[in-house]
This record gives sequence, structure tokens and C-alpha cells, in this order.
Amino acid sequence: MDYGMSRRGFLKAAGAGAAGAAVSSSLPALAQAGNGRTTVNIPLVVFPYGDVELHDGPMKRQFEENHARFLHLDEDRMLKVFRQAAGLPAPGEDMGGWYDLTGFSLEQNDFHGFIAGHSFGQYVSALARAYAVSGSEETRAKVNRLVKGYGETLDPKAKFFAGYRLPAYTYDKLSCGLIDAHEYTHDPLALEIHERLTRAISAYLPEKALSRAEQRSRPHKDTSFTWDETYTLPENLFLAYQRSGKPLYLEMAKKFLEDDTYFNPLAEGNNVLPFEHAYSHVNAFSSAMQAYITLGSEKHLRAAKNGFEMLQKTQSFATGGWGPNEAFGEPGTGQLGDSLSLTHASFETPCGAYGHFKITRYLLRVTKDARYGDSMERVLYNTILGARPIQADGTSFYYSDYHNTGSKVWYKDKWPCCSGTFPQLAADYHVSTYLRSHDGIYVNLFTPSRVKWTDGGSTLSLTQTTRYPFDSKIEIAVAASRPHEHTVYVRIPSWAKTDSVLLVNGNRVPDAVEPGTFAALRRTWNDGDRIDLELPMPLRLETVDANHPDLVALLQGPLVLMAVADRQPSFSSLSLLRARRVNNAAGDWVADSEDCGQITMRPFISIDKERYSTYVRIKS
Ligand SMILES: [Zn+2]
Repeated sequence: MDYGMSRRGFLKAAGAGAAGAAVSSSLPALAQAGNGRTTVNIPLVVFPYGDVELHDGPMKRQFEENHARFLHLDEDRMLKVFRQAAGLPAPGEDMGGWYDLTGFSLEQNDFHGFIAGHSFGQYVSALARAYAVSGSEETRAKVNRLVKGYGETLDPKAKFFAGYRLPAYTYDKLSCGLIDAHEYTHDPLALEIHERLTRAISAYLPEKALSRAEQRSRPHKDTSFTWDETYTLPENLFLAYQRSGKPLYLEMAKKFLEDDTYFNPLAEGNNVLPFEHAYSHVNAFSSAMQAYITLGSEKHLRAAKNGFEMLQKTQSFATGGWGPNEAFGEPGTGQLGDSLSLTHASFETPCGAYGHFKITRYLLRVTKDARYGDSMERVLYNTILGARPIQADGTSFYYSDYHNTGSKVWYKDKWPCCSGTFPQLAADYHVSTYLRSHDGIYVNLFTPSRVKWTDGGSTLSLTQTTRYPFDSKIEIAVAASRPHEHTVYVRIPSWAKTDSVLLVNGNRVPDAVEPGTFAALRRTWNDGDRIDLELPMPLRLETVDANHPDLVALLQGPLVLMAVADRQPSFSSLSLLRARRVNNAAGDWVADSEDCGQITMRPFISIDKERYSTYVRIKS
């Protein structure tokens, strides 16, 4: 895709911008190493969703909004397209937007539908994860009814997919929903339905993962076939294998690894990202990580690591977002800076953030490298936490806008891909905040929360109190049923200065603070112990790319501060770096521009209807 593509082509690409995949294995899956279904024991494991509690703050609010939205979504409407295709009674209203069977609606006097039922599996997955967080029986019962209802529409040939636009794309999400329903709600039917679906879907899939170029070269009666996403399938298939033990999934996962045109060149350090569809190719990194975890394939670990580094170094904005117009550009051409005057579709936010959280969590778990946590929090504070909540009618937030004069807008179609990934990601906030190691615990995100765990008969917890990143102080209270020796690892972001301060029970810990690493606090912890971290956040500037040295973003710690203005203002570097904090709830700063007077500089999370510039112009 390029910037000049037609609106129609653009919409097709937008449609291809979604695919869900399950979260990394949960703590009980620590036993995976012993069940013979994974080859590699990775150093950090995720906690069970329910062991992490988010306290008041934007992450908790997004989780609760999404949980409530899908808990109260009418089940007949969610199941309608599957029932219609099966010739069963299909009560309830159409969902609308992308979700319906494609056709002409007299009611709306328009063509509707795009990828029927595409996000059903993601809604089931999100509800299953929300049950794991909340223990809500109402949520579990709804998951069970949805799985049963879906199973009733599935015939041995999965006729629903006959002539279907994107079978791999929708199968991937159904797969995720079903294996999550099994894993988190212990749904009695989900695995059996998953196996029936998987055996039937093969008739609609190619013989291997096809790159977009390969898909284009194959004649197909529906040209949009080129946007199907077979290369994202392996992550969920490897997880299906781990959770069921069925070799069928292992063989299929291996078959759909896109080695020849993607993972092999990435593993050798060749940047093959340019011109690929952004979200689905980042999502594919998680398939490579599962190939590493399940098969022990070092090649796939290298591919994921290299690919992620290329993403960060050559495709990313200061916000952590990437892929203007959902595509990767050619490094060195100034494509990111150019995009600021060419498109308002700068970052596919809920899907992109979901994929970004998954790959950074996998890489952090494998490498223990704090930079992956840094990258995750950039995306958290500058993209998804500023996304508008999904509305009852399916109206959704989709693109973040980094245009020279940007604004926050709704997506034009209801129930798009981003309505599926948003609730999955909001549940995943719980498993991204803390990670467990053999010798203790990693504090990855700074957010009001509590994590509890047991070790050697001791019951332990950490409780974080903070307004980070709007305040530089983080307090962590330790609770222990009896004194216990372990290490608390605390992430020190790369942007932090060496004058950051880490205290245990009020005493400064010498030599602990090295930016870009986890500070290791090993001791016998007692009930009532306390850790304090203070991370001073000086202002700094980042250019959009080397070709546009005059286009900069102003950052404070992990936060990008956007200029609130109707047209892109100009500043001197010095006046930006001398911006002053305003004492308000929005987290505003003010800076003196060259041409527009005093300008409010505001984090994305606080932006509402006002126009803003993510990057401003520097006058030397
Ligand atoms: Zn999306």
C-alpha cells in the first residue's frame, strides 16, 4: 500500500488490519516446561490475570468500560450472521458495520457488511480474559452461552466460509476465542468446537503462509483475497497445541510460519518490513515467538528480535505508534515525516497497541531487557490510553492522527477490527504490569495496582501507589505473611537520568539505578517494607526522522506533549525545552511559540475535541 492508494483500496487494507491472538501463557503454564508441549523454559512468566488488581486510574477504567460493553452486548446479535449462514432461526438485530453478511440494506439504503462475524472470537476471548480478572460468574456464563451458540452453527464443512472474503483472518480470531474460553473459563465445549472448526477450515486455506505478493499472483474470484492473513495463524495454533496436546495444531502451526519471505530474511538481519501491512506483520512476530517457545527455534527468536528492532528504529513515531496508512515505509526516505502532511491515519491504535503489547511482553519474558518495557509504556501512555471507548452501537476509535493538524475522530464504520483487540488488550493490562521470575518479581509498569503471590509457604504482595507519569514518584508497599528472601526488580526507563532515586525503607540504595535496566533489590523482605522510586523527567526533543530535522516532538519521561493549536506552530528548541508545567488535571505544559503565542502542550490521554500537532516545527 502507498499513500496514493484509492479510498477503496485503503478500506480493504483497513479490513486486513486486524487479527487477534491469545495472550502469552499464564502462570499455571509454568508447568508447560514439564508437560512436554514446549521446548524452551523462558525466564519470566506472566501472572494469572486474577492475581493482579488494577486500582483507580485510566487502565482500570478502560478495562471496566470494555468488560461492561461486551458483557451487555446482545448475544443474538453477536451470533446472528453464523445462524443466518447455517439456515437457523436468527433473531435479533443486525450488528451493523463490518460485522454483517455483505448485502444491500433497504433499511440503510446502502451496502453493508464487510467481514461477517470477524470479531466474534475476539469478543469471546476478551470476555474469557475479563472473567479471569474479575471472577464474574455473569461473564463466565455469557462466554459459555456464546461458545455453545457458535458450536450449534458449525457444520462439518464449515460452510460459513464458502466464498468468504478472509477465512484465515476470521478463523484466527475464532481460534483465539475458543482456546481462551477453554483456558480461562474452563468451557466444556470450546476445545471440541475448536477442533471441528480447525479440521473444516483447512479446505479454505492455502497450503502455506502466503505473503501478500504471493497472494496477488494467484488468481481468485475476489481480489480482496490478497489481504488474508495466513501468516498470523501460528501463535494461536501453537497455544492450541500447548493447551490441548493435539499434534494436529502443532503441524498446522509449523505449516503457516511465513519463513521463506518473512522470518528467514528477518533472522538474517534483512529488513523486509517496507510496504508490508503494519499491524498483521507485527502480530506475526508473536507467531515467531511461539515457534521459539514451542519448538526451541532460535531462528524465529532472532526474526522476532530483529523485526522488532527494525520496527523501533525505522518505522516508529515518538509516541511508539507505527505504520501510517497501515503500511511500513522505506527506511531513509523520510517516510514518517512525509506522512505528517499526507495522512490522518497515522497509527491503527487498538490493534497496533495490542500487537505491540504482545511482542514486547514475549521479548521481555525471554530477554529480561528493560527496553521492551520502555517501549510498551510509550505505546500505553501515548496511544491506547487516549483511545475513545467503544460505544454501544459499535462506533469505535481506530486511527491516532499525527497529521500536522490532527484531531481525535471516530472510525466511519461500526464494529471494526479495533473493536475486537481493544477489550483483549485492556484485560491484558493485568498480565503486563508484573512478571514473575524464579528468584522474585519484575515491576514492569508503574500504575496503581496490587499483585499477590505465594512462595515457599509465604503469602506476598506488592501495592503500588502512584500518579505516574503525571508525577515522578512511585511508592511500593511490601506485604509478607512472614519474612521472605527474594528480589524485586524495578524497571528504570532508558530516558531516566542517573539522578533517579531508589529507596528501601527510606534508605537510598547505592549504585542501583542504571537507566535502561531493571534495578535488582535482593533482601529478606518483611511485612511493611517500602520501596520508593523517584524518576525525574526532564523535557527532551525527538525528531520524526533524519530527513526532517525541523519536525520534533516534545517529550517528558514516557509522555509526548502535543501542541494544542489549529495549525502547526513553530518554536525555537530552547523555548520548547523551557516549557512550564501547568498545575491542572490534564497534565498540561505551556511553551512560547515563534508564531502563535503561548501554546498549551497536552498529553494524548487528555486530548478531547481540540486540534493538535504531535510534531511541531523548529525554527533555528
Ligand atoms: Zn484495528
